[in-house]
Amino acid sequence: MRVLILGGTADANRLAAAVADDPRIDAVLSYAGRTENPTPPPISWRVGGFGGIEGLVHYLRGERIARVVDATHPFAAQISAHAVAACAVAAVPLLALERPPWQRSRGDRWIEVDDLAAAADALGAAPRRVFLGIGRQHLETFAAYPQHAYLVRLVDPPRAPQPLRLVEAIVARGPFERAGDRAMLRDYRADIVVARNAGGTAASAKIEAARDLALPVVMLRRPVIPARQKVETVAEVLHWLGHDGTPAERGV
Ligand code: NAP
Repeated sequence: MRVLILGGTADANRLAAAVADDPRIDAVLSYAGRTENPTPPPISWRVGGFGGIEGLVHYLRGERIARVVDATHPFAAQISAHAVAACAVAAVPLLALERPPWQRSRGDRWIEVDDLAAAADALGAAPRRVFLGIGRQHLETFAAYPQHAYLVRLVDPPRAPQPLRLVEAIVARGPFERAGDRAMLRDYRADIVVARNAGGTAASAKIEAARDLALPVVMLRRPVIPARQKVETVAEVLHWLGHDGTPAERGV
């Protein structure tokens, strides 16, 4: 069975590893191409956009894809909407692997907002030291708020000067650890964090670290994505694909 996994997340990598040795599943992992050196997965992979809904329909038909798993980041709303539309046109079953959002817990000081502009507004007029825990492509919005100093963490070293007054640009690839993120926020004297409600564990360290340090977090709510069948775990995707699972996956 030919399966297209839309990736770019730790969940997609875990899914790729789980199906790699199943001779009945011939899966290809698709990356958008945002990072310079994506981790090569243990299955075949491709890089780059498909060319909108039409391009994705063309790909599904040309590659005889029987199932699509959308394991993209919850904030990658465009590709997810395209997958819903293209799978409907090509009559290919689609399943989304979507981890549940983080829930506010005791000690959290969240300010929840719907978009980046509202997040930037929520920082207020007075100068602050802000940890921007968001992707490189979203930094531009904050350039219009130059009273603040920003700490950013990027997967690739910045090529061009950043549009922001930076405390520091840390180059690192997750997953991150709570103690490490606590030290980072303390060392750079961040007094507020901006984050997207990604859910899962790969990016949760900064949220836990902010809680430990009693820092406020401007938390972006998730974008709305058209209705589709969804599950929350890799195990549920494997079940949908008819993958029997290794003994470890079956809990044996
Ligand atoms: P997006 O806004 O939803 O997608 C923009 C365009 O990028 C899509 O229309 C599509 O181009 C292409 N694209 C996106 N994901 C793709 C994939 N897996 N394979 C092939 N093409 C893809 O996406 P985004 O927010 O820029 O995120 C891009 C990628 O980074 C996603 O794969 C996502 O899982 C990963 N990622 C995103 C975030 C985030 O915060 N948004 C965080 C971590 C990882 P065409 O229309 O030409 O097909």
